This record gives sequence, structure tokens and C-alpha cells, in this order.
Amino acid sequence: MSILAFSYHNRDEWVYKIKNLAIVEPKTVKIFILRKKLPSTLIIYAMNTLKQICFPLIFVPALWTQMSCSNSNGSKNTTENTTSPGSVQTEGTAPVPQVRKTGAFVPNELGRIMVLEYHLIGYPEDVWRRTPENFRKDLQMLYDHNYYPVSVKDLAAGQVNVPAGMTPFAMTFDDSSAGQFRYLEKNGKLELDPDCALGIMEAFKKQHPDFPITASFYVLPAIKPKLRLFAQPEYQKQKLAWLIAHGYEIGNHGWFHVPLHKLDDAGVQKHLAMFVKEIKAFIPDYEVKSLALPLGMHAKNRILESKGSFEGTNYKHDAVFLVGSVTSVSPYDKDFNPLAIQRVQAGDTPTGPAAFTKQLDQSGNRFISDGDPNTISAPLKMKARLKPVLEKKFVAK
Ligand SMILES: [Zn+2]
Repeated sequence: MSILAFSYHNRDEWVYKIKNLAIVEPKTVKIFILRKKLPSTLIIYAMNTLKQICFPLIFVPALWTQMSCSNSNGSKNTTENTTSPGSVQTEGTAPVPQVRKTGAFVPNELGRIMVLEYHLIGYPEDVWRRTPENFRKDLQMLYDHNYYPVSVKDLAAGQVNVPAGMTPFAMTFDDSSAGQFRYLEKNGKLELDPDCALGIMEAFKKQHPDFPITASFYVLPAIKPKLRLFAQPEYQKQKLAWLIAHGYEIGNHGWFHVPLHKLDDAGVQKHLAMFVKEIKAFIPDYEVKSLALPLGMHAKNRILESKGSFEGTNYKHDAVFLVGSVTSVSPYDKDFNPLAIQRVQAGDTPTGPAAFTKQLDQSGNRFISDGDPNTISAPLKMKARLKPVLEKKFVAK
């Protein structure tokens, strides 16, 4: 028996939610992604594959509720960029409802954005390490300054749907250290460490439902133990599954962090494909969609960063991230390249998120949303920066 399901959620979340509920094996689920929400009741049809007869099986409002609530992106317009079999494409996209109050603002959707880059979370504060307290402070700063989280995938695809007056930002973590995702055992039960990055983000999200934070984790599957898949070997698979089930992304950071410029073409493909193979050994259905270049170093043949194969394992990345200390141009900017997106290294430095926020506000060059995902609003003087194919969507402010 197989299950047909219709959802506006992404496929991976669906598969894991269904698996967790032990209704069926994920392989028997066929997902049809919709861009708009169906009527409030979840409809699951079971199909008798032998007789090829389709009939209604169950109506599970509770399941629908659980899935809706668990969409950590918070956006009802989360969609797959890849076309799933039977996917339905609809015109237009509904705006995200207004959440936080903003003062007067002029939309500037051709302004700059930040993709934040974190490494270690722990003690003491250092170049590559934020303390839990400082990480909380960063989230509060972003919240107070009208930032709104978006996924790396949506950012790279130019699907930036945030409320009016807000500035989109994306969050990334490199190198899968324990401080990013740590389980604690308490009275025989596993708990998310409230001082690891995920514990902090989940708590912040609970306190601020209008800040649906998500993040991409560029993990390492075959490196030394303290950086290998969050450094608790007994929970590797569980952690990867948890991330996917809670709307976070797992991204490629190489097999064991060899900078790609040191490898020949075959080596680049081997290291990126072996990453995919290692992740699929834990999570067979998961499709890795983005890459953070180890040490930010490009391959000699850059086309192999986004696509290649090794011994029958293929990889395809829709977004590639650099290591950096620079804000990114808007996804609507003519110079935006999803295969070379700049990042901002977290920290209380002149090139950290707080300092950039100040600079962008002083220069008036911060991306500020008009709240309508179907138009691109900006001051007329910015129009020269627009991708020519987006000309029809431009609204001068
Ligand atoms: Zn790294």
C-alpha cells in the first residue's frame, strides 16, 4: 500500500513527520507539493497499488495541526524549487502577515542582506567562537532591528517573502561541533542542551513566535570526532533526522573539510559526493542542496562546486556559500550569484552583524521589504542594480 499526500510543506519534513508517527514507511509516500494551503483538513489517500484503486483512507486533523505547527520557517509559502512528480504550480505568492511593528520606512529590496556564519558556540569568546550569552544577544539584536529569518534555499532562489519593513537574513553554522547541537541526558531522558545553538534558537523562537528562525548546518561526516556530526557519535542519525523534521537544513561542507583548491577535478567530485553518500547512509531520502566551501576556497573548476558525481553518487547544489566578512547583494541584484554568496562572520567585530547593521542603516543600503513578494520595490536610483529579467516587477519608491 502506498500513500499519496498533498502539502505546502517541503517533502523532507513530510517524510519525517509521517515516519515519526509510524503510519507508513517513507518510501511509500508520494508527496505532491502545493504552493497554496489546501482546505484545513489534511487529506491522505491510500492507494491499493496492486489493484490501482485509489480510495480515501484517513482524515487526520490532528496530524495536520502538528505538521502546520512544526513548520519552523513559519512561512506558509515554503515550496520545493525542484519539481516533484505531480507538483502543482500556482500563480502568485501570498504575503507573510505583518508581525512586529516598524516605524516609517522606505522599501529597498535592492539593498544588502546578511547571511550569518557561525562556527563554535561555547567558551571563551574567540574569533571562531561565540558564547551562548553572545549568541542570545545576536538573536535579540536581529529581532530588535527588524530582521526576519529566511531559509538559505529561499534566499538563493530569490523567494524572499518577509513582512513589510523587515530585512531578511539567513543563518548558517559550519563544522558540526557539539556546541551547535548537544543532547543532555537527564533522568534517563534526552534533552536539547539549552546552551547549545539549537537550544538557544528553539527557546528564542518560542518566546518570539514572530521570528520563525531557521538555519543551515554545514556538517562534516568523516572528520576527527570533535567535529564529526556534532560530536556525540551515538546520536548522529537522530540529530540529522531532528534537524530535518524541525525545518533546518543539512548542507555540504566537504567529506572532511579539505579545501577544494587543493584537489583535482576528480578529487573535488569525490569529496562532495562522498559527503552526500555519508548523509544518505543515515537519511536515505534527504537531498543535499547547498554547499559552504571549506575555508571558503573555490575549486579550480568552479562548475564542479555545484554539480558532479563520483562512483554513482551525484550531487547538485543550488547555493554555494563563501567564508566571509561581507554582506551580500540582494537576490534581485544583477550581480547576485547563488553559487557564490557572501557571508558575515558573527562576532562583536567591525565586520560583525551589529556593526554591519549600523553601517547599512547609515548608508540607507539595507534591504527593506515592501511586504509584497510579487513586487520589487526600491528607490528609483537603485533601479540600475536590478536584474533585467525582473524589470516588470519593479516599483519605484
Ligand atoms: Zn569549516
